[in-house]
Amino acid sequence: MEKTCTSVWANCLQIIKDNIPTQSFKTWFEPIIPLRLEESVLTIQVPSLFFYEWLEEHYVGLLRKTIKKQLGDTGRLEYNIVVEKSSSKMPYTTNLPSSGNGAEGKSQSIPMPMALNKDIKNPFVIPGLKKLQVDPQLNPNYTFENFIEGDCNRLARSAGYAVGAKPGGTSFNPLMIYGGVGLGKTHLAQAIGNEVKKTMPDKLVIYVSCEKFCQQFVDSLKNNTINDFVNFYQAMDIIIMDDVHNFAGKDKTQDIFFHIFNHLHQSGKQLILTSDKPPKDLAGLEERLLSRFKWGLSADLSVPDMETRMAILKKKMYQDGIELPNDVIEYVANNIDNNVRELEGAMVSLLAQSTLNKKEIDLALAKQMLKNFIKNTSKEISMEYIQKLVCEYFEVPVEMVKSKTRKREIVQARQISMYLAKSHTKTSLKSIGAFFGGRDHSTVIYACQTVEDLIDTDKKFKAYVHDIQKKLKMS
Ligand code: ADP
Ligand code: MG
Repeated sequence: MEKTCTSVWANCLQIIKDNIPTQSFKTWFEPIIPLRLEESVLTIQVPSLFFYEWLEEHYVGLLRKTIKKQLGDTGRLEYNIVVEKSSSKMPYTTNLPSSGNGAEGKSQSIPMPMALNKDIKNPFVIPGLKKLQVDPQLNPNYTFENFIEGDCNRLARSAGYAVGAKPGGTSFNPLMIYGGVGLGKTHLAQAIGNEVKKTMPDKLVIYVSCEKFCQQFVDSLKNNTINDFVNFYQAMDIIIMDDVHNFAGKDKTQDIFFHIFNHLHQSGKQLILTSDKPPKDLAGLEERLLSRFKWGLSADLSVPDMETRMAILKKKMYQDGIELPNDVIEYVANNIDNNVRELEGAMVSLLAQSTLNKKEIDLALAKQMLKNFIKNTSKEISMEYIQKLVCEYFEVPVEMVKSKTRKREIVQARQISMYLAKSHTKTSLKSIGAFFGGRDHSTVIYACQTVEDLIDTDKKFKAYVHDIQKKLKMS
């Protein structure tokens, strides 16, 4: 029977189908159209450049073997990539020689320019994409005007401002804003988006949390709309992605984002990212994505100093149209010193109580009211609780930590517990030692030093400690 492109491709699909999950097959192979078979070269049409890259990256081995099986050692696969007319500056096609001498792994795919088939309409392009209207998902209250400047945020703020004025046109691409919880990452990132929308309303801006993006990706796989998903994000002028540390461990979503990132970056579009750590400390992210994150500028937000905290409170007061005596503001700013969100929270609760009680707030009243709040936010953490958290985190039994064992993971849990007990409680070294299995204070000192050294030298270890500390603070 004579071989046709259709029959050969159908045979290939049979093999491929047996080798990959059904969902992947549906997503990546069903949309492919066999175009022609000339000599032993099979040409298949794929819906987009992205699609081709994905196949190359994930299925190159499988494709090569399959083609060889169907067409013999000289068999080759060529891609015809449908490119939208409007963006057809880059005609791409590629051929994928199967290894002629049978030495698998030696051959490489060589991308080569080839005429592209302009008549074929891309069935995956959302109609009217160019005039796409997108709700940028921005909170209008997060503006630069509302974002108080201080030493803690000067670099990030001015970089953000530059990006807002000239998205994609500065060397701050991507702009990565990093810092601890409640220090203004989301506010600043969104302020850039709002600024762009104000001065350049036609720009397509989208704010999305990393978590939401991951969820959308999973949904698009389920619904077979992966191309729409990618096309949507690739059509943006500015993507603001919040909390990219949440990519950790989500390899497939990282892959997709990597492609979207490249596409936008190459076309001079702006990416703005936020994260709870600087890129070099982000654990669980693929190296190639991390290296992209380091391309532009990373700027940190740190804890605001007293003066900035006062300014933030005053601004907030002014916005809400209320007034508090200066000594009250000072008291709040002095006592809540590590998180702007909590700072605001304290003030909101003061206001609420004063409204309810119909009482003017003076310092004595503020002290009394905030007693609970301050206790709650920096609630005393007990050694028992630290031990419980650490043991749960490393999945080791509590008794073991108190025992004499020198097993590596137990020692690690014990040392971290001691370190956290020293830094988060007011307990003496002697009592800490006694609590963790009757050890003396020099053991505690040694443990703390070891942990500090490891934090400086071991990225993974640092991430562990950081995670546990975060859990501690959430309690
Ligand atoms: P993050 O995303 O870093 O956790 P957010 O951006 O959500 O923090 O900020 C927490 C709260 O603190 C928000 O209400 C934000 O408006 C406010 N905030 C943070 N930094 C500043 C600042 N420099 N000036 C004014 N408000 C700030
Ligand atoms: Mg945030």
